[in-house]
Amino acid sequence: ENDFPNAYEDPKDKLLGGLLPPGLDEKSCLSRYQSTIYGRGLSHQPSPYLISRLRSYETLHKRCGPYTESYNRTLVKLKSGQEANDPSDCNYLVWISYSGLGNRILTLASAFLYAILTSRVLLVDRGADIPDLFCEPFPDVSWLLPLDFPITNQLNSFDQRSPESHGNIMKNNNFGNSSGSAIPSFVYLHLAHDYDDSDKLFFCDQEQSVLQKVPWLIMKTDNYFIPSLFLISSFEQELSQLFPEKDTVFHFLGRYLLHPTNSVWGLINRYYQAYMARADEKIGIQVRVFDSDPGPFQHVLDQILDCALKEDLLPNLNQEEPSIIPFRNRKTKTVLVTSLSSGYSEAIRDKYWKSSTSTGEVIAVHQPSHEGYQQTEKHMHNRKAWAEMYLLSLTDKLVTSSWSTFGYVAQGLGGLKPWILDKPENRTAPNPPCRRAMSMEPCFHAPPFYDCKNKVGTDTGALVPHVRHCEDMSWGLKLV
Ligand code: GDP
Repeated sequence: ENDFPNAYEDPKDKLLGGLLPPGLDEKSCLSRYQSTIYGRGLSHQPSPYLISRLRSYETLHKRCGPYTESYNRTLVKLKSGQEANDPSDCNYLVWISYSGLGNRILTLASAFLYAILTSRVLLVDRGADIPDLFCEPFPDVSWLLPLDFPITNQLNSFDQRSPESHGNIMKNNNFGNSSGSAIPSFVYLHLAHDYDDSDKLFFCDQEQSVLQKVPWLIMKTDNYFIPSLFLISSFEQELSQLFPEKDTVFHFLGRYLLHPTNSVWGLINRYYQAYMARADEKIGIQVRVFDSDPGPFQHVLDQILDCALKEDLLPNLNQEEPSIIPFRNRKTKTVLVTSLSSGYSEAIRDKYWKSSTSTGEVIAVHQPSHEGYQQTEKHMHNRKAWAEMYLLSLTDKLVTSSWSTFGYVAQGLGGLKPWILDKPENRTAPNPPCRRAMSMEPCFHAPPFYDCKNKVGTDTGALVPHVRHCEDMSWGLKLV
């Protein structure tokens, strides 16, 4: 109880300008209405249209969610097998829990937006620990896929080769053709990194109109595929009304959908109050090294320091000792480092302990955990990872690692345009060490390069001004 002081009890704008629905139980999910207590409101205003679509989604979810009459009726189609030729009053999108936590957060947002665009109800597979990490986002009815869902034990075995996949159905020319083949009761959408050209047809208008008729879509992805939804012409108008500012998609959807459970909120609050609340400025540094060797590496440390100095995020050291700056004028910069290894923050802390700074600023370096390696199935491990992404989102300036969805989540929730550390080649620090991101949006790592109309390959990063190639991955796509 003492973790949540009284002064914080009624933060202003707790509904985030109308993004959040009022009236949900506060005690069971403190983070939902307290997300602005550390001064982190939304970076932009959500459009009235987005707000109204969220409220109508909530109504749909309430009418069609688990164990409602409509749900039970649509479930019969799935149980009874093949054909679903008469339309259902509710259609569903089942999200399969897959991959690391950062990836899962991005795919939850992607699936939710796709559900809104196609008037489907999003149901979430719990995986190892989804209910342990995230509050229920919608009023009255759960978003969790019921445990007695008929094909639950099949969910994990769906893969690129599954005959029920959209791609494989397309290859066998089995539905959506003019000969009027039956509409299956469910289709598996394989949108993971190893998907092939047939799976990628998902991003074509023609396919979307066929998929519309399928009552159950079951999706497995580890990618933030929203940038490619912006290239589907039938979604274009709706998307531009929802998001007049196109680089705010994940910011709004993430802040709407993803609220840490009380146990994770406790980790966030205690850490923030102990190590971040009193800082004059908070700098986040997210270090993710994609290397089989655990590190820490000198070239990565050099790169971080080079970036922080060049971009004026951290001060230079003072050459003359001792520096005499009156105590009361001293500013404290708190550096929050997240990494699987403790080596980087130790080295930065050491550097600012051994010498004073040229500006007289006091540099405090903190790192919440150093878990060593990725442990996707462990509860406390994932709680810490979620808490750390959230804590990074509460910083004023953020440095992230290339290719990391962990960093994308932090920047998106916080509404921050990060400085991205370029990916080192051959274990040497790149020059320049980092660059400022064009937008706070995540990068879609495995986009299709196909022109559905003309049936030829095309550079999908050059079609419209708001979908571009990413800073950190030349073939990726992001909204700007
Ligand atoms: P990505 O692999 O960087 O795109 O991010 P993911 O979150 O999808 O997967 C990485 C996983 O490794 C995380 O979910 C955590 O389990 C773990 N991990 C990586 N970096 C950190 C870190 O800085 N702190 C913590 N606590 N866990 C991390």
